[in-house]
Amino acid sequence: MADAVNALPFFYGNIAREEAEDYLRQAGMSNGLYLLRQSRNYLGGFALSVANAKHCYHYTIEKKPNETYAIAGGKSYRSPVDVIDHHSQETDGLVCLLKKPCNRPKNMQPKVGPFEDLKEKLIREYVKQTWNLRGAALEQAIISQRPQLEKLIATTAHESMPWFHGAISREESAARLQSGSRNNGKFLIRQRNENGSYALCLLHEGEVIHYRIDRDRKDKLSIPDGKQFDTLWQLVEHYSYKPDGLLRVLTEPSPRQDGHAGLIGRPSLPANHPAPGNSLHHVADGIFSMIKDAARIGRKKPSRGSQHSTTDSSNPYETRVPGNQAASKEAMPMDTEVYESPYADPDELRSSTVDRKQLFLEDGELGSGNFGTVMKGIYKMRKSEKPVAVKILKNDDNNPSVREEMLREASVMQQLDNPYIVRMIGICEAENLMLVMELADLGPLNKFLQKNKHASTKNITELVHQVSMGMKYLEEHNFVHRDLAARNVLLVTQHYAKISDFGLSKAIAEEHNYYKAKGHGKWPVKWYAPECINYFKFSSKSDVWSFGVLMWEAFSYGQKPYKGMKGNDVMQMLEGGRRMEAPVGCPQEMYEMMLSCWTYKVDERPSFAVVEPRLREYYYDISH
Ligand code: ATP
Repeated sequence: MADAVNALPFFYGNIAREEAEDYLRQAGMSNGLYLLRQSRNYLGGFALSVANAKHCYHYTIEKKPNETYAIAGGKSYRSPVDVIDHHSQETDGLVCLLKKPCNRPKNMQPKVGPFEDLKEKLIREYVKQTWNLRGAALEQAIISQRPQLEKLIATTAHESMPWFHGAISREESAARLQSGSRNNGKFLIRQRNENGSYALCLLHEGEVIHYRIDRDRKDKLSIPDGKQFDTLWQLVEHYSYKPDGLLRVLTEPSPRQDGHAGLIGRPSLPANHPAPGNSLHHVADGIFSMIKDAARIGRKKPSRGSQHSTTDSSNPYETRVPGNQAASKEAMPMDTEVYESPYADPDELRSSTVDRKQLFLEDGELGSGNFGTVMKGIYKMRKSEKPVAVKILKNDDNNPSVREEMLREASVMQQLDNPYIVRMIGICEAENLMLVMELADLGPLNKFLQKNKHASTKNITELVHQVSMGMKYLEEHNFVHRDLAARNVLLVTQHYAKISDFGLSKAIAEEHNYYKAKGHGKWPVKWYAPECINYFKFSSKSDVWSFGVLMWEAFSYGQKPYKGMKGNDVMQMLEGGRRMEAPVGCPQEMYEMMLSCWTYKVDERPSFAVVEPRLREYYYDISH
């Protein structure tokens, strides 16, 4: 959405209401002249400024939790542009019909807000500090969790701001404002004890005025009778621009007493100067040490004992957003114990074998297959204990090929290290041959979705996007999976998927880009591309075909593809150019993605290098 809106010629980005009025005036103020700008008080929202009878009117286009947009009290639409289209046909509460867009002056780009500028740096540093990630693990975390990270940063960034003084008393806040410089407009925000509320404390003619900042049931923040905001930094930004009911504008943050005061380092600003825009920039360089503090108190890996529940409302990984008591957040993949390899810790010895004495099997099977059973266990490493899944080969002397198969699977898995792939921890040769893997104990994606039909489109998109990230990694490393299906995607949490079951996987030689099977085996033909069936040729592109089927399974909540059809009938259907229909309720964009994965000709079919960013874009769009 953000990119699409940015491209609109009448979108001005983060400009203030007064600036919008100036642009409308410069363009002649004809009735129905309008422009769109970013909302300065609602995250992800917009504002519509309209000229009529020589006056300017401003309407907030709020983004609703179900990802639609609406002017308060009006109809909801999929995008702000649809809202504008509607109001160009019907006034529906507006002062007049929207008649003519007021386009940006030549060479003007939509204005980027001060926080947008900082966001990139903040997100990166937040992920680095909070989860101690570097390199590829850091990049993958940012790609897969950007919408959540952006929200987290937006709602917690105030903790790093020089004007935020935490839970100090009224008296203490007054003392802080009165000490040192006593410029008009010097201010701070303190946390109050009640219901996540705050107070804005402002120095005016030597006196300290305290304004209560209430939080309503929808988590909106406002000074009584004032405008509502999603975040404290938006509130500060607004009141630094104009007093809007306060005795004066906010100018200079009162230094904090926690050693971070030096961050401010700027002279007091003249009234009416958009101060926090600047203050944000001033704090940028030093902000990161404070993020570390916020991170330390805010997030920690959940304990193993609590990993069983499966629904959104009782998500075992739900953690509190630091500093925002009213909001709680779903955990991210990085919060779990299986985001990074256990061997990422340099103190743990990397080894392909697991000592039986360090491995403790628990009662109860996780699943079973041809080879035997999968049990839950604990692997005691040097520094930590890891919950693991242990694939145990049944002792079957008559069938050495099963043992070979399992060792082949282990050798493929051992070469892979990606957050969205089940990692092998090691092989254990003891009473049985055992393959010790990371635990993903919410089980296979298809079964999970069959039981959790309330899972949202966003949730499903998030999971299939993660699968595409894991597959992109496989593609880059010249491995073909050959058994990609929803049953082989295991969930660590409702928001974290890992690809598993590398029993059929192959490394492909660099000089070829495919693997040629010698004969037809016991194949999951409904997941296979035509060239697999016709020529026994397997490539990352044939994995892309399977990925399309996996997406279909996911968006149909775990239904069987080509239900009731025989393999041969499926082949005929595909050769005849027909494809499965869209699952009920599946977004059109996602069905089109499936259809492109089912492109008959290999050369015309997209690779994961193309599929992943396309899915990512859609996922970000519906998450903002
Ligand atoms: P086959 O080898 O016959 O094809 P399979 O493909 O079903 O059998 P797996 O998928 O490897 O075998 O494992 C069987 C079941 O065990 C899975 O469906 C899943 O429920 C469980 N399981 C496997 N690996 C893990 C894991 N790492 N974490 C949690 N559960 C697992």
